[in-house]
Amino acid sequence: MKKNTERLRRVANAIEASRNLILTCHEKPDGDAIGSMLGLGLALKDAGRDVILYSKDPIKEPLKFLPGSGWITTQLPDPLPGGTTLVILDCSEPGRIGPAGPNLARQADTIVVIDHHLDQDFCGKNGQGPDEGSKKCFQYVEPHIFATGALCLWIIETLGWPLTSQICTNLYTAILTDTGCFRHSNTTSLAFEMAAKLVRHGAEPYKIANHLYQSYPLRRMKLLALVLKTLEVKIGGLVGLIQVTPEMFRISDALEQDTDDFVAYARCIDQVEIAVFLKEVHPGHVSVSMRSKNFFNVAEIAKEFGGGGHFHAAGFRTSGTAYEIREALLDRLSKALKETSNGYRRNIGDG
Ligand code: 5GP
Ligand code: MN
Repeated sequence: MKKNTERLRRVANAIEASRNLILTCHEKPDGDAIGSMLGLGLALKDAGRDVILYSKDPIKEPLKFLPGSGWITTQLPDPLPGGTTLVILDCSEPGRIGPAGPNLARQADTIVVIDHHLDQDFCGKNGQGPDEGSKKCFQYVEPHIFATGALCLWIIETLGWPLTSQICTNLYTAILTDTGCFRHSNTTSLAFEMAAKLVRHGAEPYKIANHLYQSYPLRRMKLLALVLKTLEVKIGGLVGLIQVTPEMFRISDALEQDTDDFVAYARCIDQVEIAVFLKEVHPGHVSVSMRSKNFFNVAEIAKEFGGGGHFHAAGFRTSGTAYEIREALLDRLSKALKETSNGYRRNIGDG
């Protein structure tokens, strides 16, 4: 993975030229979204810029230790101050920012998109963003990079701005979480090189890991116990499926944010290629997380159901009963697996 220095320079210049900025990310923000927003936000603040950090959803508990987390707001100024640059992180679709997204994009003077999801083209060929007009729009979307936080590090370095320990703690968290603690297939030597640099500049791996992975509330474990009882393997063992229901949330007193990474329990079974986690928080509203291990592109299927993501990690939200969605998804996965796994096995055989 080589950096696209020309794109990086253009995006960095647009950021540097801005005096007031709003940084935002996708709804239900994860460690990469929040770490990127805070890492870049702190660098901008240190460089004397006026910065608002906006997230539609409040920051979840395990991420609250991040330096600057109290600065993130769920309220937007209305109207936006003139000349505002909107920086969209870890997301390339205005709709995924939340209901305010399209309006924010409309009002902003300049838009900068920094992301690593598949097939996204926010600015379009004419570089004018999602709506017509004379807006300036710059994007650096690199699906081959493991985390948006890595792109933020490149931007800060391109601008020659100092890397404080606060910035590094945030960017390290972005990289750690989006590589699944350096276990996912996106983990490259560059991920380790960047992590090493961030540690040299003050990120503390043990403390960060403790906050993220050894500070869970008991209710999460109670919920997990209920969810694991739903585990089933389908389609010849290739699909592992778990589910959570509103009733389980009620019994365990747990929250939606407590289900983070539950899908990994369905993926870690030897034969499973695709893990599916069906999450029904409120009756009739289902959110689906999908993960794949080797050959299967879950982003393609998620897209068909109105969502998106990466090759190995994707999801979508939809209305309907969990049963209907489960059946429709299993049906689709069964067809897709027949095609893909045949091709996959043939390729292995050929190789
Ligand atoms: P998760 O399963 O952790 O919610 O999401 C996994 C990946 O899929 C993330 O990269 C996330 O951005 C993407 N993803 C999840 N839900 C949606 C969705 O509703 N729409 C889109 N476009 N991407 C999603
Ligand atoms: Mn990300």
